[in-house]
Amino acid sequence: MLDLTPEEVRRLRELADQIAMGTQGRPCWLSGARSTSIGILQRVSDWLGDACGHIDATPERPGPALLRLPCVRPFGHSGLHLDAHGHSWVSLPGEEPRT
Ligand SMILES: [Zn+2]
Repeated sequence: MLDLTPEEVRRLRELADQIAMGTQGRPCWLSGARSTSIGILQRVSDWLGDACGHIDATPERPGPALLRLPCVRPFGHSGLHLDAHGHSWVSLPGEEPRT
């Protein structure tokens, strides 16, 4: 990933994570910033290999469970999980906290 140091990549991910979560549910004119930040989160997660990885297990969610993408936010994050398609969700009651 470019010529960034691991520390620079972590800072980039932190910024992308803040933008992605800050644009959650915001007006559509922020969708470009949101999709870019989610793309950065996915690439950094692939590169560092330390993403949260939680998968939405909500029974009401439509579609096959095997096609659900894992959370691309950093391991141990707080708040909502977020996949590479911009879908966000909360952990189900009783699930292990991801800390
Ligand atoms: Zn997560």
